[in-house]
Amino acid sequence: MTSSNRPSISFEFFPTKTEAGHEKLLNVARQLAGYQPDFFSCTYGAGGSTRDRTLNTVLQLDGEVKIPTAPHLSCVGDTKAQLRELLNLYKSAGIQRIVALRGDLPSGMGMASGELRYANELVEFIRAETGDHFHIEIAAYPEMHPQARNFEDDLANFVRKAKAGADSAITQYFFNADCYFYFVERVRKLGVQTPVVPGIMPITNYSKLARFSDACGAEIPRWVRKQLEAYGDDMQSIQAFGEQVITEMCQKLLAGGAPGLHFYTLNQAEPSLAIWNNLGLSR
Ligand code: FAD
Repeated sequence: MTSSNRPSISFEFFPTKTEAGHEKLLNVARQLAGYQPDFFSCTYGAGGSTRDRTLNTVLQLDGEVKIPTAPHLSCVGDTKAQLRELLNLYKSAGIQRIVALRGDLPSGMGMASGELRYANELVEFIRAETGDHFHIEIAAYPEMHPQARNFEDDLANFVRKAKAGADSAITQYFFNADCYFYFVERVRKLGVQTPVVPGIMPITNYSKLARFSDACGAEIPRWVRKQLEAYGDDMQSIQAFGEQVITEMCQKLLAGGAPGLHFYTLNQAEPSLAIWNNLGLSR
């Protein structure tokens, strides 16, 4: 929740490769800015593959679109000197929030390298370098990170990362509110009070979603999968059904105490806004 007790709402973008894509992203961001979200965030290609594009996008969204924008920053494949340089650039530009991650190196970039191996080390590094300047967000995995040895290990890792100095967390997306409630209950029992904001993925395209969900360990419930499969190429029905499923899950999450929602927009405005409007989140 924000200080006014309303849910905190944020929208995530990815930096684009082309000028046309970037223009489209800015237009989407301007449209979403009209809804007065609490912040935007912009992803970072682990290993620095989007270093300049993430930096430029963040500065433009923050400075021109005028919504506080959080860069994502990952530590695999980057040296401490490279991370320090980015942190200083963001700090001097007045950026106040950062999403601290380990990251996944894109295939073809070899084995994970870099001086920091896990996100908890990055959180410690940011605190050591910049004190309390940044509000630090970390990632949470209610359905377990796909590379974790087991759920208990992953919980312990989350606790270590939170205690390293995180202010709040954003989850990997999921389609089952119960896994979120269980995760939050478990971390509270382990003494961590860090707010955990659900990451919300609107459903717009079944085949892409299925591929991506397999990779990141998000389970699509069988009844949702079967219904989406039955729609075949009927994108309109997929989107209408997806909107209903995600809206109902968000209602359940907010009613059950989730402090906000973080939308994975995939650089599109309409799917997130449809859910926003269904939830009556207008400010
Ligand atoms: P960590 O918390 O470091 O965990 C990674 C794995 O290591 C887990 O299995 C954990 O259990 C284990 N682990 C953690 N600490 C230890 C330890 N000390 N010893 C042994 N095992 C340990 N990726 C990007 O590349 N760019 C992005 O911009 C990006 N944005 C994201 C935003 C959100 C909200 C989320 C949820 C994910 C994002 N990701 C992004 C994906 C993320 O980088 C991957 O999921 C990555 O594999 C893990 O990152 P993490 O920060 O959660 O890692």
